Amino acid sequence: MSTLEIKDLHVSIETEQGVKPILKGVSLTINTGETHAIMGPNGSGKSTLAATIAGHPRYTVDSGSITLDGENVLEMTVDQRARAGLFLAMQYPVEIPGVTMTNFLRTAKTAIDGEAPKLRTWTKDVKAAMAQLRIEPEFAERNVNEGFSGGEKKRHEILQLELLKPKFAILDETDSGLDVDALKVVSEGVNRSIEDGGLGTLLITHYTRILRYIKPQFVHVFVDGSIAEQGGPELADRLEDEGYDRYQVAESATA
Ligand code: ADP
Ligand code: MG
Ligand code: MG
Repeated sequence: MSTLEIKDLHVSIETEQGVKPILKGVSLTINTGETHAIMGPNGSGKSTLAATIAGHPRYTVDSGSITLDGENVLEMTVDQRARAGLFLAMQYPVEIPGVTMTNFLRTAKTAIDGEAPKLRTWTKDVKAAMAQLRIEPEFAERNVNEGFSGGEKKRHEILQLELLKPKFAILDETDSGLDVDALKVVSEGVNRSIEDGGLGTLLITHYTRILRYIKPQFVHVFVDGSIAEQGGPELADRLEDEGYDRYQVAESATA
């Protein structure tokens, strides 16, 4: 078992108006095999948490820690984080002109494993994973995310997840912009990684819809840069009924 531990994390960003604190003391422990949902209103800092775990240079960690099996993640480069077993699916995936999906996947796999995958099994694995995610074979030769629809980008991310086999995946609004069919296909891919690979998952979402397909054991509600409430799946059900109003009222009352 591996453990990703976030302790009292404070993160700020530099804006034109000066330094803006975003995360105000976030603590969260995820073990492999566990699925945690982070839910919360827009602007509560969910993507900031994801980007900080991934090592995005824009975000400054003021205090607190992130460790993976005791190793200091904050001291690792983005590449080292990937090799240590962290995978981030971004809310807005980037296009990589001039790099085909096939080359991208093989380069990433080689970088993460420290050796090139055996060509015959690799090609078979890629084809099988693409078929399961209903990605047309010709996508293999297309440039990464270039001209992909929102749903195609998300499926491509889950393809990476299935082939790279990380210990932990941070999925930031993987459900956004997906129709129900695409949502099912993407969720099945995540569930395969959880069930077959013991993936630890941090599922970041504004809406409860994806939680019908990927079942979290733990739900954390993010409000104004910290965790306002934690619970089990029943908390997601309650949010589906009641929304976030309750928390925002509490927030403005103390502001
Ligand atoms: P969420 O993902 O929950 O919607 P974000 O982490 O994207 O929240 O944003 C949290 C807060 O930080 C928001 O107030 C947002 O405007 C601000 N923020 C995030 N990134 C930037 C940025 N690059 N520049 C300015 N403000 C930012
Ligand atoms: Mg947002
Ligand atoms: Mg976000």
